[in-house]
Amino acid sequence: MLDFDFYSPEEEIALPLYKERGVRVFVKRDDLIHPYISGNKWRKLKYPLQQAKTDGKTLLVTFGGAWSNHLLATACAGARFGFRTYGFVRGDRLDNPVLQLCQLFGMELHFVDRERYRDKKALFNIYFRDSREAYFMDEGGYGALAAEGCSEIANEICDTYDHLFCACGTGTTLAGLAKGITTRQWKTTLHGVPVLKGGSFILDEIAKLGIINPANVRLHLDYHFGGYAKTKPELIEFIKTFTRQTSILIEPTYTGKLFYAVHDLIAQKQITSGSKVLVFHSGGLTGILGMLNRF
Ligand SMILES: *Cc1c(COP(=O)(O)O)cnc(C)c1O
Repeated sequence: MLDFDFYSPEEEIALPLYKERGVRVFVKRDDLIHPYISGNKWRKLKYPLQQAKTDGKTLLVTFGGAWSNHLLATACAGARFGFRTYGFVRGDRLDNPVLQLCQLFGMELHFVDRERYRDKKALFNIYFRDSREAYFMDEGGYGALAAEGCSEIANEICDTYDHLFCACGTGTTLAGLAKGITTRQWKTTLHGVPVLKGGSFILDEIAKLGIINPANVRLHLDYHFGGYAKTKPELIEFIKTFTRQTSILIEPTYTGKLFYAVHDLIAQKQITSGSKVLVFHSGGLTGILGMLNRF
């Protein structure tokens, strides 16, 4: 078994707005799991890594952008659990703190232009078709095994909540949470906040992962702030205030948009008085290193 002990409590945050509206808000602190194998990325890696071990694979091959939390988590998890790691990076060769950390953990990087990056299986086949050691992992860790790992979040949740919120990139985390909630027969409404434009595709993605027409899932499509990794001054201002008031660090790409959405929906009274809300903090704080100039 590849696993490690970690700490991810549910903590209440009491902001003035929440009090005013009579809503209690808690955070599931997956950001505390590990500094580099953080949040949902550990959840998503656990079963693919176990399968790789079972299949006798020794090299993890995966894909990501230059600030990818998934690349970094894979590099660090590889070092921890005895795999070599290889990352295809989208775009021109460059250097940044996340890629430097990936290399420090032993990952070999291979930059590919956006055109070739699109077809991940083709790239894998060009370089690793004949390799018996190589194990393919999709961009962002997307996949059914990854969703299985995310469904385990529900097993740890101690209290009962009316609403559970998470940020969505590929939708794998949302799919896992939907499965966890369904299995446990909770009445909790699951809210997904896509961080990219046109996020309604996420319902199709979670159907592909085997979660078809899940009950009580709502997507909030208007909190992408212009698209993936795009920000606006009001998002940056929100993050500054939130971090000062709670001591919980969030960043502009995922969790900033997530907590902004929660705040806004409570302000608009779409979350009604008396509700209990759990927000899934999916970690990924190294992403902020590329954004500090915006604060
Ligand atoms: C990768 C990532 C996500 C997106 O998760 P999906 O399962 O791809 O939807 C959300 N939050 C953080 C911090 C991430 O790093």
